[in-house]
Amino acid sequence: MSVIDTMLERNKEFAAHETAAGKLMPSLPKAMPNVKALIIGCADMRVDPAHLLGVESGEAVVLRNIGGRVTPGLIEQIGMLGRIGQVAGVAPGGGGEFHIVILQHTDCGITRLAGDPALLAPYFQIQESEVAAKTVLDPRNAVAMDVASLRAIGALPASWMISGIVYDVATGLVDVVVPPAPLRSA
Ligand SMILES: [Zn+2]
Repeated sequence: MSVIDTMLERNKEFAAHETAAGKLMPSLPKAMPNVKALIIGCADMRVDPAHLLGVESGEAVVLRNIGGRVTPGLIEQIGMLGRIGQVAGVAPGGGGEFHIVILQHTDCGITRLAGDPALLAPYFQIQESEVAAKTVLDPRNAVAMDVASLRAIGALPASWMISGIVYDVATGLVDVVVPPAPLRSA
């Protein structure tokens, strides 16, 4: 059986349980008010936030890229998400608490690109000479840096909570590098 055949079989299993239980379908048009978090994570196949953090269907929007980094492209997507919410007439968190979680990890593939500033500079839309400051070899520093860069975006609601965590692929545990706090103090 090919990879896609296996996936299609698994999807039949999924659909039989999830939709028959009425878990997804009835709430679909109202799904967004249930969204409690936006998780920014790495594309690495070992670090799916749904697995690591037990995120359930409808609970969080997950944006993944190489490294789980805050890049101009990622910021553009956050803006588009906000616009979708406006058009749909719903507020993230349904008016309650809403969290941005930046999730990076040890042994990240982006570390293999650290010696290639010509590749990373356009990704971050910075000069090649500035790539070293992005600390792609050190996820703890990178998480803290990316939290700070989102805090600097005035268009994001000040009351949203933000945190930065690093997943250790060796232990399976996440380490809270930046504890949850509002994006900006009131
Ligand atoms: Zn990674």
